[in-house]
Amino acid sequence: GATIGILGGGQLGRMLSVAASRLGLKCHIYDPSPEPPAGHVADAVTTAAWDDAEALAAFAEAVDVVTYEFENVPTASLDRIEAIRPIRPGREALRISQDRLTEKEFLSGLGLATAPFAPVDTANDLNEALRIIGTPAILKTRRFGYDGKGQARITGPEDAEAALASLEGAPAILEGFVEFSHEVSVIGARGIDGAVACYDPGENEHREGILRTTTVPARLSGGQTTDAVLLAGRILNALDYVGVMGVELFVTPRGLIVNEIAPRVHNSGHWTQNGAVIDQFEQHIRAVAGWPLGDGRRHADVVMENLIGDEAARLPELSADPTAALHLYGKAEARPGRKMGHVNRITGHPA
Ligand code: ATP
Ligand code: MG
Ligand code: MG
Repeated sequence: GATIGILGGGQLGRMLSVAASRLGLKCHIYDPSPEPPAGHVADAVTTAAWDDAEALAAFAEAVDVVTYEFENVPTASLDRIEAIRPIRPGREALRISQDRLTEKEFLSGLGLATAPFAPVDTANDLNEALRIIGTPAILKTRRFGYDGKGQARITGPEDAEAALASLEGAPAILEGFVEFSHEVSVIGARGIDGAVACYDPGENEHREGILRTTTVPARLSGGQTTDAVLLAGRILNALDYVGVMGVELFVTPRGLIVNEIAPRVHNSGHWTQNGAVIDQFEQHIRAVAGWPLGDGRRHADVVMENLIGDEAARLPELSADPTAALHLYGKAEARPGRKMGHVNRITGHPA
């Protein structure tokens, strides 16, 4: 069977490895950290830095296709790999999603609604952007932000200076605050043949910037659901995308507004492991391996709950609950804010 190379060995890489293994494929993880969660389930692990040219070349030679579980792989590392093996999803998806400004420009260029935005490099830029966009607003680093890190709320002009200082000079983007009623996401997939399949949108609840729960079905009208799926398809097609993508949306009275895209399997798609015949991890492996997409139809209503930090201590109680489908990441140390696992609960069945 073929071997899938995965850049990054966190929980997403781990669950991708399990899915690949179920399909009779092998997985080879590349991760700089010594004991990545995916290391225990993958067939091979390379522990080397992102700038280790020799290790990157040997890794690429050892696999048939390379995918990734996080979008911040340095460009130079990708160049080295791509000289040897194909990278799926392709470079354009990575280039766009590595920078919030490029991403917003791409999305609005497709005719999709986003929050009003402006690039901010200096205090002058910020004052000008605040004059145009107004408050409340959010200042975000353009690169490397996740779980709400690298963001500062601005409720009025008096917050501007502290917000800018908190980003420590990193290139930033100011976004107008979107008055949404709730947040949803679409997990979409596109095959090598251009086929598109989207899962039913899930409704996402965050706490302290971190995803807490995803509930399917989301509270959406039929029309909103169609809009969500069509806009995800539009993004996938525009990028000639191969693999699974997460598209985060704000629901507002004026329609759906795209927050951000993730060119990979997504935490808000973990419900598919117990609510769809083919889950997002198998779907992604199928796509990048060049197989036809699977059937992503939902057969259950599901609530996915993340286990974050010391919530790992709930394990005895959760393991005693026969209806709690547990997915644990094998992380030894429970640091605050660290995703330790998740639990899926079936709450009903679609009519
Ligand atoms: P993730 O872990 O999803 O990658 P992130 O660090 O990239 O998170 P965002 O998704 O941009 O950050 O923002 C985190 C959360 O902050 C959003 O899910 C939303 O609740 C809130 N938020 C972000 N941008 C806006 C906005 N422009 N208007 C209103 N709320 C926002
Ligand atoms: Mg993000
Ligand atoms: Mg987000």
